[in-house]
Amino acid sequence: MLVNHRIRNKVIAITGASSGLGEQIAYKCAQNGATVILLARTMKKLKRMKDDIEKKYSVACGIWELDVSQHENITNTFKEIYENFGIIDVLVNNAGYGVFEEAYTTSIVDIKGMFDVNVIGLMACTKEVIPFMRQKKFGHIINIASQAGKIATPKSSVYAATKHAVIGYSNSIRMELDPYHIFVTTVNPGPIATNFFQIADQSGTYVKSVEKFMLNPEHLADKIVNSMLTKRREINAPRWMNTGSIIYSLFPKLVERIGRKAFYKK
Ligand code: NAP
Repeated sequence: MLVNHRIRNKVIAITGASSGLGEQIAYKCAQNGATVILLARTMKKLKRMKDDIEKKYSVACGIWELDVSQHENITNTFKEIYENFGIIDVLVNNAGYGVFEEAYTTSIVDIKGMFDVNVIGLMACTKEVIPFMRQKKFGHIINIASQAGKIATPKSSVYAATKHAVIGYSNSIRMELDPYHIFVTTVNPGPIATNFFQIADQSGTYVKSVEKFMLNPEHLADKIVNSMLTKRREINAPRWMNTGSIIYSLFPKLVERIGRKAFYKK
């Protein structure tokens, strides 16, 4: 187990905490002595996690029902969190989903849905913590993007567009917030073994072709938690996939030609 002493007694809010990567991050934070605030739509799951976390790790755990696509509810939720806990030291914007489909068949409902959750929801949550973090001159915003935010591949045009937006937004606010000693990290994973694919890849074809190199959400959560309250700019995993993204940024035409077969795995 990695240990991050910097987060002991700190307050860490995580969106999309009810499953997959968010759930693992929540457990790892609690294990390292942090107070955790869990946000998601599935309250039943959050209640179970709260009981388990408080019993196992003797830390405080707050839970709030929040659908980050309901932007008008976000301000109130964060107001309640600040009233109850006084501070948020680290915000992990993790809530997100993808629908893998070709651009022309993707419905406007799905396009808006992905942008509402992955982009506008993330920005709205971030806006709530910035004024407090600026005042304290302390804090860390961790945005879960994706390798899809670096290389866009067929059948994920909209999802990739949302994650490109997350990286662009993060790069801008990192500079804005630097004078206030607020860190901004993007996490750019390749495929992770979570429930994500139940929506993204309903046929199961993509999962079958990438399951050999799927990331373990627990290991990735360890890396993320270990980077908390450090100036880490990006977490990229797996490393070979990120090397591909770097080469792509230099030679996009070449990579699109050579990688064609691999890119059509969805
Ligand atoms: P997951 O197991 O499906 O978890 C997604 C989480 O997001 C759930 O807790 C879900 O909670 C929450 N969520 C979804 N829609 C929401 C909404 N409208 N409002 C609030 N919460 C919402 O998937 P995951 O793999 O852990 O995904 C976590 C993040 O990693 C996402 O941002 C995803 O894009 C990113 N990512 C995933 C992969 C992958 O291959 N799995 C790769 C790269 C990046 P509720 O349903 O309870 O609300």
